[in-house]
Amino acid sequence: MSASDGCIFCSIASGEATADRVAEDDRVVAFKDAHPRGPLHVLVIPREHITSLADTDDEPLIGHLFATAARIAKEAGYTDRGFRVFANTGADGGQLVPHLHVHVVAGRRLGDPA
Ligand code: 5GP
Ligand code: ZN
Repeated sequence: MSASDGCIFCSIASGEATADRVAEDDRVVAFKDAHPRGPLHVLVIPREHITSLADTDDEPLIGHLFATAARIAKEAGYTDRGFRVFANTGADGGQLVPHLHVHVVAGRRLGDPA
C-alpha cells in the first residue's frame, strides 16, 4: 500500500479518473477545479504523488507548478486584471486533498484569504 493508493489526484494524473484537463506535460497536469471559486479555477498537480509543499524541496518542480499556473491565467487573458496562485498546505493551511496542488483563480476580485 503506497501513499498514492486511493489518491484522487493520482487517478486524475494517470487518466483513470476524468477531469477537464487544460494543460499537461511530462511533470504536471492542470485541470479545472470541480467546485470553481471564480470564472477561472484550475489546479496544477505533479504527476508524481507528493503529499504537500511540506514534503518536497524539489525547486524545479515547485517552480514549474507555479509557472504553469501563471501561464494558464495569462493565456486565459488575466494578465492585466490579475489572478491568484496558491498552495494550501497541511491542516492549518486548509489543504483537503493530500496530493500537492497549486490553485489558480481569476475573474473576480478576491478578498484577503486570511
Ligand atoms: P484544497 O486541498 O487546497 O483545500 O483544495 C482541493 C480542491 O480540489 C478543492 O477546490 C476541490 O474543489 C478540488 N477537488 C477535490 N476533488 C476533486 C476532483 O475529484 N476533481 C476535481 N476536478 N477537483 C477536485
Ligand atoms: Zn496522489
